[in-house]
Amino acid sequence: MNILVINAGSSSLKYQLLDTDSGEVMAKGLCERIGIDGVLTHTGNKSDEKFKFDIAMPTHKEAIQSVIDVLLDPEKGVISSMSEIDAVGHRVVHGGEFFSDSVIITEKVLKAIEDCVPLAPLHNPPNLIGIQACRDVMGPDVPMVAVFDTAFHQTMPEKAYMYAIPYKYYDQYKVRKYGFHGTSHRFVSKETIKFLGLDPENSKVIVAHLGNGSSISAVVNGKCVDTSMGLTPLEGLVMGTRSGDLDPAVLEFICKKENMDVSEMVRILNKESGLLGLSKGLSSDFRDLNEASENGNPDAKRAIDCLCYRIVKYIGSYVAAMNGVDAIAFTGGIGENAALVRKTVVDNLSYLGITLDEEANKARGEDKVISTPDSKVTVAVIPTNEELAICQETAELVKNQK
Ligand code: AMP
Repeated sequence: MNILVINAGSSSLKYQLLDTDSGEVMAKGLCERIGIDGVLTHTGNKSDEKFKFDIAMPTHKEAIQSVIDVLLDPEKGVISSMSEIDAVGHRVVHGGEFFSDSVIITEKVLKAIEDCVPLAPLHNPPNLIGIQACRDVMGPDVPMVAVFDTAFHQTMPEKAYMYAIPYKYYDQYKVRKYGFHGTSHRFVSKETIKFLGLDPENSKVIVAHLGNGSSISAVVNGKCVDTSMGLTPLEGLVMGTRSGDLDPAVLEFICKKENMDVSEMVRILNKESGLLGLSKGLSSDFRDLNEASENGNPDAKRAIDCLCYRIVKYIGSYVAAMNGVDAIAFTGGIGENAALVRKTVVDNLSYLGITLDEEANKARGEDKVISTPDSKVTVAVIPTNEELAICQETAELVKNQK
């Protein structure tokens, strides 16, 4: 089966066409500046050449049309007819309490995604626009699937997802922890169980997805029992530009001092905090900070120290929450590549009987155990692949429907 995976943002749209049998990426690309002018960058598998086109994209519909056109292009494309696209998998950010799994998109599903807009006002609307644009361009007969960032975390028990605030805010507005990056946490926890030969029905796994946005999850028998992101992706770890956890009273304190409103403060917590804020604006990118830190920059070092310390604390709390752990998996741009972060974290887990295999820790881009054979808990690098996960979940649903 060929599955088109779509990730629609407000002014951009990422796509990949994947072959489910081989897992091969047949083509991929990005539409940018939708609603402004329009740029399409495309790579097909016939060559590694990257093509860049200026195409008018007043709306997402023209963006999708240009994706279909380039996929069908005799020279730059990879298919000869739209019927070679068997289904479309859409990344949707927020499924609220409606969805604990991916679903075939129906009118009822669209309405539920719409109902979740107040929970993700910046993300769900462009996701919906992307789905509608695909339907307009590809017609109603191509099956479409919604794969939610929040779905995997819906198995969390009440004690993990409730905030200790007046219950009416949950009752009236569904204020609770939802968690994000669920597609990655599901994919990586499954892969960890498979790769390490753990018993899927008797396993405790911690997944540390560390990238520009980062989150950790605790997974018992393949089901998420806790995760670090919350009502929004702001809660939890120190991220590229997000603060993660902090005393909520900080908001009022700074707002009063700086004569600022709450929305502006929340923007600062999302866009100017985390590694960027801690490094006094040096960078939100781990590689930049690592290099600066190696050259003795104390601001970069502070940011990296805080990042690692928060990860250590979360892992410790999830070991406690699960009353033990069998395996810890690192994934995401930092988790897969930053040996220093993995070493700093794992060295602080020696109380669990974990020892790092320094040689194996040099690993990048492949499933790899990085703890020593006598380590009481196995630590591994497990690269994530969200597009492949969306493709697999889409294919499974569509096959079962047929
Ligand atoms: P992601 O959001 O998963 O794409 O991850 C982005 C983060 O991963 C950024 O902070 C990058 O600096 C970091 N990253 C990507 N590649 C490397 C690398 N080779 N070594 C260290 N950090 C990396």
